[in-house]
Amino acid sequence: MNGSVEEDMSVEDDRTMTDAVHGVEGEQAESGVTPGGHSGAFRDVLAKDHARRGKAPLHFADMTPQMREDAASRMKLPRFRVKQLANHYFNHLSTDPESFTDLPAALRQQVSDTFFPPLIHALAVQKADEGTTIKTLWELFDGAQIESVLMRYPRRTTLCISSQVGCGMGCPFCATGQLGLTRNMSTGEILEQVRTAAASMRSGEVAGGPGRLSNVVFMGMGEPMGNYKAVMQAVRQICTLAPEGFGISARNITISTVGVVPGIKKLANEGLPIRLALSLHAPTDELRDELVPMNRRFNTTAVLDAAHDYYLASRRRVSIEYALMRGINDQEIHARQLAKRLNHYGDDWVHVNPIPLNPIEGSKWTASKPEDEQRFLEILHRAGIAATLRDTRGSDIDGACGQLAAKVQSRHADAGQTPALA
Ligand code: SF4
Repeated sequence: MNGSVEEDMSVEDDRTMTDAVHGVEGEQAESGVTPGGHSGAFRDVLAKDHARRGKAPLHFADMTPQMREDAASRMKLPRFRVKQLANHYFNHLSTDPESFTDLPAALRQQVSDTFFPPLIHALAVQKADEGTTIKTLWELFDGAQIESVLMRYPRRTTLCISSQVGCGMGCPFCATGQLGLTRNMSTGEILEQVRTAAASMRSGEVAGGPGRLSNVVFMGMGEPMGNYKAVMQAVRQICTLAPEGFGISARNITISTVGVVPGIKKLANEGLPIRLALSLHAPTDELRDELVPMNRRFNTTAVLDAAHDYYLASRRRVSIEYALMRGINDQEIHARQLAKRLNHYGDDWVHVNPIPLNPIEGSKWTASKPEDEQRFLEILHRAGIAATLRDTRGSDIDGACGQLAAKVQSRHADAGQTPALA
């Protein structure tokens, strides 16, 4: 384990963890905006205008049950109205009080203003895979942009969501990493991605007819452990049964991290059977220091130890995400080193997902040759490690996290105008 950093850090302390994520000391702004800094191991690039962004409007999904009752009582609404609202939000997937026929018409505008301020709206939508993959670029209240991707498979439908605007981790091969971190998202902003996707599935907007959103993965923009509190508030409402949540099994929720050890430990203590995905991308510190700057704070030994502890606590196999980059981390030696590192723990505790890199335009990082991908996979299999080459859904629609946002932002900057539907 990475002793010195670990000993300094209380896993109970969100603020300390946020500092650990962003490599800075001191106060976290009230707004949820993370203090910035250009030195150290991490690029923590804040938007120039971050100071004026403030917090997203308070939404029903941000409120505890008590806060909802207090807000209702200030409006002189009886308690049962709060239950009705929860039913509309989580069961009917609606935020439009005009359609709440069990609510007196005279109350609807006030309910809308108090509980359901609009948090996200679609700026651009791209479809691929015959309409079964839908990528949406969302604009938030302050003009910030994030992405989500809905992927329908024969037996499940998975939504990949964002938890931060941009990302401060600075992985050089990643489009989101190039955008830097703007701010954390609120629980409401995170959950609105889920509600709208669940509603699209239910109404049959996604090719294949009406269906159900079954899986949620936190693999879009951002490092979920960098926004732990809002992410966990969202997770609890995703997996609680309706009408208090969306009723998606916790077993079908995946939280991906680049390796923020205190966050992994904290997640292990939540007692939820969530799947952990560790974005490893390299088997040695020498290589990972270059590909994942966070490795200089929590090295491969520390993150693998923490991930294995998570497996022991949750009994859920950990996913190891490994973006295959041509000539960089995709050779036989890397596969053998990876197998050795994972087999060191002795039990069948991981599932490796080598992912062909979805290259960003103009980048030196590019996808592996298919023959190298196959050989990488074979070496892992021969070493007794479960591994599946992840499909690259949406590779023809700027599918890697941050690519659509990056493209629309640069078009926006080039043309000096508001982004339009792609
Ligand atoms: S790969 Fe993940 S952690 Fe790294 S910069 Fe991109 S979004 Fe952030």
